[in-house]
Amino acid sequence: MKVYNFSAGPAMLPEEVMKIAQEEFCNYRGTGCGIMEISHRGKEFTEVIERAESNIRELMNISDDYAVCFIQGGASMQFAMVPMNLLPAGATADYADSGVWASSAIKEAKKFGNINVCGSSKETNYDRIPEIRHWKPTPNAAYLHITSNNTIYGTQYHGFPESGSTPMIADMSSDIMSRVINVNDFGLIYAGAQKNLGPSGVVLVIIRKDLAARTPENIPTMLKYGTYIEHKSLYNTPPTFGIYMLALVTDWIKRLGGLNVIEEINNSKSEVLYELLDRSSFYRNPVQPDSRSKMNIVFRLPSEELEDKFVKEAAKLGMTGLKGHRSVGGIRASIYNAMPLAGVEALIDFMNDFESRNS
Ligand SMILES: *Cc1c(COP(=O)(O)O)cnc(C)c1O
Repeated sequence: MKVYNFSAGPAMLPEEVMKIAQEEFCNYRGTGCGIMEISHRGKEFTEVIERAESNIRELMNISDDYAVCFIQGGASMQFAMVPMNLLPAGATADYADSGVWASSAIKEAKKFGNINVCGSSKETNYDRIPEIRHWKPTPNAAYLHITSNNTIYGTQYHGFPESGSTPMIADMSSDIMSRVINVNDFGLIYAGAQKNLGPSGVVLVIIRKDLAARTPENIPTMLKYGTYIEHKSLYNTPPTFGIYMLALVTDWIKRLGGLNVIEEINNSKSEVLYELLDRSSFYRNPVQPDSRSKMNIVFRLPSEELEDKFVKEAAKLGMTGLKGHRSVGGIRASIYNAMPLAGVEALIDFMNDFESRNS
């Protein structure tokens, strides 16, 4: 049975990417060695890491003012690395609180300096992106931190704040490369790979080089952006498997036609699901319409019993990972880049059928 995995992360990978990885796992391009057995400083892996970087630069249209780094420790380690590197003593950083991940970033940053929560949607249970026109930014803030897609609540920015001369930093873990963005609007972008780009174990960091140059001297080597920039992410042994998979996934995005094409596909996938939710009086999407995520689509059924039944029946039909995050309940369909339209259509057929049998 074909299984469509709607899990929030680690999430589905493109089937053709997994087939290539499967083949190259035991014998990488005729070398007689598997991709995980070769030196990170040998010519084969050098080609892999350079291809990963050049694919990312090409797809996201990244200029030479920015460095592209591959770092371990997950997006959660970036919650600490960002303030350690970019929040000087005595300065204040602005954070928008749009949910659990944003709050974790805030909590961590508070260990390093003054944090101003410039906007929040906590009062409405994070059912929207904090309304930008009501934000209270700090004059001359060290940076502004946002979470572009809120994986747990199913909300997403559909327009970014104008941060002026304040560098904007975004946690894009759950919508990186799902749409066209202008990298020049940001000082730093980070994303754990395990949702849209590959396996867990590697974080993509895109950072404006002049910002990295502001880092204080006394930061541990492995926690300093400059180390990764200077050594092209090869100061020590990098997460080779994650970088390899990132190269394959970005090759795949290029073959599809780039982020314009990916964005159109993601638009169609999310539109058909939201259409059903809007049409139905059985399913209910709790998110404010202008904040709806195209990556994580959350909905409720009339009762928790029906939600349990929904998740179980869907799994029997090969649609897994639909249970909402434990902190909010309900159903969540994560439809990242690798989820084909056919998977969304299968879910819609099931939802229509389930509704007719249970309402
Ligand atoms: C999943 C997720 C994280 C946590 O990522 P780790 O790599 O597990 O640390 C952080 N931010 C967002 C937006 C996420 O979706």
